[in-house]
Amino acid sequence: MIAPRGWQFFMHPGPTNIPHRVLQAMARPAVDFMGPEFVALRDRSLQRLKAVLKTQKGFAITYAATGHGAWDASIANLFSPGDKVLVPQTGYFAENWAKTATQYGLDVEMVATPERRAVDPETVGKHLAADAKGAIKAVMFVQNETATGMRHPVAEMRAAMNRLGHPALFMVDTISSLASFDFRMDEWGVDLVIGGSQKGLMLPPGMSFTAINARAWEMAQSARNPRRYWDWRSMVEDGRQVRFCGTAPIPYFYGLEASLDMIEEEGLENVFARHRRLANATRACVRQWGQGGGVEIWSLDAEAASDSLTSVLMPAGHDADRVRAIASERYGVALGRGLAALQGRIFRIGHMGDLNEPMLLGALGGIELALADAGVPHARGGVEAAMDSLRAPVATHATDLAGQEDRNRSLASA
Ligand code: PLP
Repeated sequence: MIAPRGWQFFMHPGPTNIPHRVLQAMARPAVDFMGPEFVALRDRSLQRLKAVLKTQKGFAITYAATGHGAWDASIANLFSPGDKVLVPQTGYFAENWAKTATQYGLDVEMVATPERRAVDPETVGKHLAADAKGAIKAVMFVQNETATGMRHPVAEMRAAMNRLGHPALFMVDTISSLASFDFRMDEWGVDLVIGGSQKGLMLPPGMSFTAINARAWEMAQSARNPRRYWDWRSMVEDGRQVRFCGTAPIPYFYGLEASLDMIEEEGLENVFARHRRLANATRACVRQWGQGGGVEIWSLDAEAASDSLTSVLMPAGHDADRVRAIASERYGVALGRGLAALQGRIFRIGHMGDLNEPMLLGALGGIELALADAGVPHARGGVEAAMDSLRAPVATHATDLAGQEDRNRSLASA
């Protein structure tokens, strides 16, 4: 096989492109992880991470583990067997976090969400309202469901919990939203945050964290779930992480410092604006393709289409994995697959992390060629539509997506 020529466009919704600056920062000899150089780097980085989480009150505890590890840490530290938790069902990742809870012996109540719709906090609220005895210990909420490319309303969920005066802890998975679009730990009253290295933070996979506030810390003191590797009590002193269970993930901290430098230099709000711009362009492109009556944006809720990835639904009888294979093999564009029940029905275009306009346009061009090669009905001109979107003044999310909403409505009534 001939090695592919030119740049490959890596458009997975995680892991994402790793900037050379991060790679170079990580490529260094080992240092003493209890020595002054590393300890200062660790303290500095954990402090700076708070700005990305928008927290003054909370602090992060990091692990040499993927996001699944942070899921384990959240359940192991906070709960006892038999505790009840509520999980809005948003897709594959909500389900799998819930499975972690089940494995630890928790009683998990899933709240159904209609397919292709955002979580309705009022619906979740009804389950809380029915919990007169206060048995529900926590709501586990995925801000951005990477399996569907939909974002779910964190602030509104907290507001609903407050209105009901329910004491449940509020836990939010931000793995594919943090440093891509807005998240506010303190303002939105989030007690525990799940974060990962390989998406908006632009690091390799393999480092994750839980950020917690005083309430979560307090709850961890009396929780009876077994824990060793994840035990916060052995890693935290005076409200900050001072050690790891085992060797510290040294290179990740050098990478994290470079990533935080890049985010600070660009400005967090500008990072969000860039993600919005690229997401708008991607959606404009997919809507144009959809004029041919074929592909559609998965999210039917205009506000819920994610700024970090777009899931594209195939017309009946067409296989998303065939499009992915052609895009990858002929045009060097790597796309995310549909997970579990969505395999073959959707492909996912990641547009988060270290990405700019020409990278996106190149990838969208490759996908448009792949749609044509695969014989998928679509209208040409998606890349033009993306360019028009990039030329236009930044539209609000709602305005930009209004066309899709209308089209979906007319499709539904057709
Ligand atoms: N949560 C979300 C929303 C994710 O997107 C992912 C991975 O993509 C995870 C959790 C699990 O993270 P990891 O694959 O790093 O274990």
